[in-house]
Amino acid sequence: MLSTVQSCALRGIDAVNIAVEVNSGERGDLKFIIVGLPDTAIKESCDRIFSALANSGYAIPYTRTTVNLAPSYIRKEGSFYDLPIALGVIQSTGQSYFNNLNDFIVAGELGLSGKIREIKGGLTFAIQAKREKKKLLLPVESAREASFIDGVEIFAVNNLNETIQFLTGQIKLDPLGHKNFLSTLKNKDHCPDFSEVKGQESLRRAVEIAVAGGHNILMIGPPGAGKSMIAKRIPGIMSMPTLDEFLETMSIYSTAGLLIAEKKAYFERPFRSPHHTISNAGLLGGGSIPGPGEISLAHNGVLFLDELSEFRRTTLESLRQPLEDGEVTISRSSGKVKFPCKTMVVGAMNPCPCGYLGDRARKCKCSNLDIQRYRSHISGPMIDRFDIQINVPAVSIEDIQSKKLSESSMDIRARVEKASKIQMERLKDSKNRRNANMSHNEVMKFCELDGESSTLLEMAMKQLCLSARAYDKILKVGRTIADLEREDKILPQHILESIQYRSLDRL
Ligand SMILES: [Zn+2]
Repeated sequence: MLSTVQSCALRGIDAVNIAVEVNSGERGDLKFIIVGLPDTAIKESCDRIFSALANSGYAIPYTRTTVNLAPSYIRKEGSFYDLPIALGVIQSTGQSYFNNLNDFIVAGELGLSGKIREIKGGLTFAIQAKREKKKLLLPVESAREASFIDGVEIFAVNNLNETIQFLTGQIKLDPLGHKNFLSTLKNKDHCPDFSEVKGQESLRRAVEIAVAGGHNILMIGPPGAGKSMIAKRIPGIMSMPTLDEFLETMSIYSTAGLLIAEKKAYFERPFRSPHHTISNAGLLGGGSIPGPGEISLAHNGVLFLDELSEFRRTTLESLRQPLEDGEVTISRSSGKVKFPCKTMVVGAMNPCPCGYLGDRARKCKCSNLDIQRYRSHISGPMIDRFDIQINVPAVSIEDIQSKKLSESSMDIRARVEKASKIQMERLKDSKNRRNANMSHNEVMKFCELDGESSTLLEMAMKQLCLSARAYDKILKVGRTIADLEREDKILPQHILESIQYRSLDRL
């Protein structure tokens, strides 16, 4: 008899339908065949399913049984289908009959005892179940993350026997209550606060501008200047994520299996800080069934590249296109998979190999050639990705000893949110939402300068030998500074400040 159970596979941050067909009682040798899975996964699946069936009091099929996971061209994780295959076997061998199995999307890994183990992608499956107007049957942990999706009935099951009793109507289970993300946001403010940062007034200001306009920022300063400390606090001054942003972020973490692995949801904007030895696949995403890399895990949040000059040049270069496009494409023989990666990049580097170039207290020991070689690790086009480049001095003794608390993240965030709103209103007809992403035409349209500002910028371009590519950046950052002050026009002081943030161009 043929039995079909609906399940899903992960493809990027989406789930796609998979039909699990089980046919039992065919003539021929006693044999259990699974098609549609990579070879290595099949044996492990069989072993788990047979053991779980036996330990739950069900017979292992004694005739030829074929399992087909369709469509076959989509690569699948073997463990997802243990539960649907086991249910299909039980029904197709006539050991039990499930009246309304067709109403459900089912996924889960079986333990040898029949216990159901969590799988990644629970939240993504819930989005698909909602789209397909189906109910969802998942392992307990996976169901918990799925319950962030409203408008879909989600049932959590612990073991094979409980699942069968539920599907045959012997026991009743209540669907999980929906978790509201907004209430969760208010309660979980994990991010460290800006009030703990001593001194560094000009860096704090630059960071506020960067966040307000969505600009990437590069901090250049000696070790111990507080670059990492400030970077970690950036998600706390970004505007609250919208529901769409929250769900995108959660979907990425769900497909990476991180919502379960870390047993917490990402209530705040993400902060990722990959080590400089990271591989290209680790950064951009990869694997036989492609999963997201650090750049996508930082989507809607911050990608912090500490010790920027220590990263392999090819690794940094590979970031350029995805950062430009806001998405990263991973090609496999079975097709292309895309992950979003709209992230604010925060870079930090020492000014020279010894770290003390320009320091008031210590003397730099590096030769000009050393410094040149050190900086050439990062290509011009990569440097170009940073709208704001700022020199960060060491923290002064007075600042370290000061007991005064600095301004809190909440106060800074209030200004950032106002500036964000102004940009969204101005760019409401554009696909871009932030000043940093404006096209050249939009810069021409929205960053018009009066005579005085225009002359100022021209003079600066000549005197500081600024490149043409720096021109648009100065205008964009100037636009953000004006937005923070709620000025319609970009004024000379905005342009003057903006020019200050081209540290590397001026060298
Ligand atoms: Zn040095």
